[in-house]
Amino acid sequence: MKILVTGGAGYIGSHTCIELQQNGYDVAVIDNLSNSSEESLKRVAKITGKEVPFYKVDILDKEEMDKVFTKEKPDAVIHFAGLKAVGESVEKPYEYYNNNIAGTLCLIDVMRKHNVKNIIFSSSATIYGDPAIIPITEECPKGVCTNPYGWTKWMLEQILTDIQKADPEWNVVLLRYFNPIGAHESGTIGENPNGIPNNLMPYVTQVAVGKLKELGIFGNDYDTPDGTGVRDFIHVVDLAKGHVKALAKIKDKSGLNIYNLGTGVGYSVLDVVKNFEEATGVKVPYVIKPRRAGDIATCYSDASKAKRELGWVAEKGIKEMCADSWRWQKNNPNGFEN
Ligand code: NAD
Ligand code: UDP
Repeated sequence: MKILVTGGAGYIGSHTCIELQQNGYDVAVIDNLSNSSEESLKRVAKITGKEVPFYKVDILDKEEMDKVFTKEKPDAVIHFAGLKAVGESVEKPYEYYNNNIAGTLCLIDVMRKHNVKNIIFSSSATIYGDPAIIPITEECPKGVCTNPYGWTKWMLEQILTDIQKADPEWNVVLLRYFNPIGAHESGTIGENPNGIPNNLMPYVTQVAVGKLKELGIFGNDYDTPDGTGVRDFIHVVDLAKGHVKALAKIKDKSGLNIYNLGTGVGYSVLDVVKNFEEATGVKVPYVIKPRRAGDIATCYSDASKAKRELGWVAEKGIKEMCADSWRWQKNNPNGFEN
């Protein structure tokens, strides 16, 4: 079975390519490299011993995608390609809606032209807004997003749901990721943000490696055990394995399915700092700063549906997530550039 991976050179995509290849799937990648480097795929090939056919193509470019579909003849698509910086999406809503929504519509159009009606989509816990239920089950109503990035995920879920409803030949799996961190245990691929990181773990590792002075913790007055935000951090390799498991639903031709991919455990920002220091022996100086606009206090999953229906559970704990994030950062202080 051949899987076309859009955004496959990126953080989650590159880890998923490894799991796919190691589980006997053929893989081809489309990526415009707007937030990644082809080097990540070279490193994937080193780990798996299999080349990754790569096409530097934008998902907005139907003609070029058409050529890739003609050549590769994929059976299914795992769709990671998208812009993902929350703050930037507030500054550049047009670019986010165009890239993520128009780009996905182009992809869907090319898919149906080639009669490829199987897609796994990267959604996010952000679509729950300020969640009505904790831990969050898939039945929790979709909420109000606080930024255009979140709305693109919210709307793309609706678009894919409507497309599957209108044409039941489509098999759609919406995977709602919680907070992916960590890196492949080899330390050769990992998250490589442009500029100053927005997310917690890359900020922590850049402080630890000496690129940034100290971590700013955004608020310690939330209604949580220690006052800092609580999130469901999940190892990116566990997340990648969830995609392989989700392919079973595509093979079963089971229409529309939605799963949370999280651990079901919440850790606070201070818990992460403490676990990072214990796992690595490196101190992470921090200061408390005001709350960040749009943040919620607590967000963690009920991941039992994925266990029940996919046989998937996250296996790696917080210490492993911290140690693996650190190994990647320490060995590659400039990401894929060196
Ligand atoms: P990433 O930026 O590392 O990977 C996304 C990839 O898509 C990049 O390689 C980028 O170059 C590519 N891309 C962007 N626009 C494109 C376009 N128009 N055409 C072709 N390629 C394009 O991000 P990631 O963390 O690996 O995230 C993968 C997916 O998972 C994204 O859709 C993201 O929104 C979603 N997601 C991520 C998180 C997270 O915390 N990392 C959480 C929830 C959901
Ligand atoms: N956070 C922080 N300092 C940072 C980055 C993040 O205190 O430099 C906090 C943030 O307020 C939230 C948690 O860490 O409570 C996770 O934030 P992240 O941006 O990684 O993911 P989010 O859950 O917002 O998608």
